[in-house]
Amino acid sequence: MNLVLFGPPGAGKGTQSKILTQTRGLPQLSTGDMLRAAIAAGSPLGLTCKALLDKGELVPDETVIDIIAQRYDQPDCAGGAVFDGFPRTIPQAEALDKMLQQRGRKIDLVVELKVDDAELLARVENRIKAGGVLRSDDTPETLAHRLEVYYKNTAPLIGYYRDQGKLQTVDGMAPVEVVTATIAGLLQGLRP
Ligand code: ADP
Repeated sequence: MNLVLFGPPGAGKGTQSKILTQTRGLPQLSTGDMLRAAIAAGSPLGLTCKALLDKGELVPDETVIDIIAQRYDQPDCAGGAVFDGFPRTIPQAEALDKMLQQRGRKIDLVVELKVDDAELLARVENRIKAGGVLRSDDTPETLAHRLEVYYKNTAPLIGYYRDQGKLQTVDGMAPVEVVTATIAGLLQGLRP
């Protein structure tokens, strides 16, 4: 089974992906995590992407399409995966469809986590106040820019997947367990 989770930064994609990994055994393919790992490792990919991530800009489509294709061909993705933070643009969505088609697979479900901007900002501010390990792009200023990038580049995926009949919108303002249960219900309703 292949699932796509998308929504604005801070919507809870990572949280729900990790739960799906535990409950369904589907690996979480987070391009954000992969890029941060490349930066931490100081690899050539990391060096070229760091400034973009810090500013809240998207890295080039070809870069993330390549890293996703390499990751998806690992044996643990034989039963599918949860895509978290990918695709983020229409060309990425088209590349994902093509990649899966070439492997005789398809996206089964796309979940849009809907959360309003004020709540997203409050979540980042709470993380800052809590003083946990912060990402360099987790500041109110960068979040505002990441949101702009989301509405401009990523929100058009709503129409793309709606036209394919794959989109389900879930209220991401609900408590984590409620969101988890809602997604579980959607998965149960999928036709084989
Ligand atoms: P969030 O969903 O909280 O914004 P992510 O961890 O998914 O965070 O992404 C962090 C950053 O990594 C993005 O702001 C962007 O710079 C880069 N990135 C992640 N995924 C992609 C992608 N699919 N395409 C382009 N850039 C990406």
